[in-house]
Amino acid sequence: MRILLMGPPGAGKGTQAERISGYCKIPHIATGDIFREAIRSGTDLGRQAKSYLDAGELVPDAVTIGIVRERVQALDCKAGFLLDGFPRTIPQAEALERLLDELSMKLDLVLNIKVAPAVLVERLTGRRICRQCGTSYHLVFNPPKQDGICDRCGGELYQRSDDTPETVSDRMRVYTNKTAPLLKFYRQRGLLRDVDGEPGIDAVWDAILGLLGSLDR
Ligand code: ADP
Ligand code: ADP
Ligand code: ZN
Repeated sequence: MRILLMGPPGAGKGTQAERISGYCKIPHIATGDIFREAIRSGTDLGRQAKSYLDAGELVPDAVTIGIVRERVQALDCKAGFLLDGFPRTIPQAEALERLLDELSMKLDLVLNIKVAPAVLVERLTGRRICRQCGTSYHLVFNPPKQDGICDRCGGELYQRSDDTPETVSDRMRVYTNKTAPLLKFYRQRGLLRDVDGEPGIDAVWDAILGLLGSLDR
């Protein structure tokens, strides 16, 4: 199963990706997570990416495509993968198409999680993330059992530095200008399925399960 997860910042991609990855037994590849990890460990990639993440801008295509090209060819992707947050531009989508052609691989599904802008701002500013395992929480919609502590691993929760109202509005603008055009790209290829991302986390997951079930054969 090869799946792309699309949707604006805060739509719930990371939250649903964890479930999809477990259910389909495919690795969850999130370019945002890869960049944040590189920044944290101070690698060359981290140094290249930092100013873009801080500003809510996209990391240049050449850098991002190079990372995904390598990651998708790793052994654990043989049986499939879930890409979360990639592609985000038309050149990235075209590069992915060429890469999959080269590898004789095909996409099965592009899931588009739809959420209205006003809801997104609330989700992003209330988001908290585990420093250790990356699980997403929300102060109101999905609080941890104990304040500031991850239910799963006991790690410390933190707020992403780009989840401030100012950077969020920059990220929304980038999404509208550069990423939203991809929906047409994948609709034309017959791969796009919309999911309403506004109900609760479990209800969205049920809808996704329904879509995944309709693909199984
Ligand atoms: P993305 O990866 O698309 O940016 P996340 O999965 O990190 O989004 O979710 C953004 C925030 O919204 C998180 O705080 C998460 O806990 C919360 N969230 C995710 N899905 C829902 C939902 N269906 N209803 C309410 N809050 C949600
Ligand atoms: P969200 O889904 O909440 O918007 P991500 O974790 O996917 O956040 O992305 C965070 C940041 O990482 C983006 O604002 C951008 O700077 C960078 N990034 C992630 N994926 C890509 C990509 N495919 N192309 C360019 N930049 C990316
Ligand atoms: Zn954790």
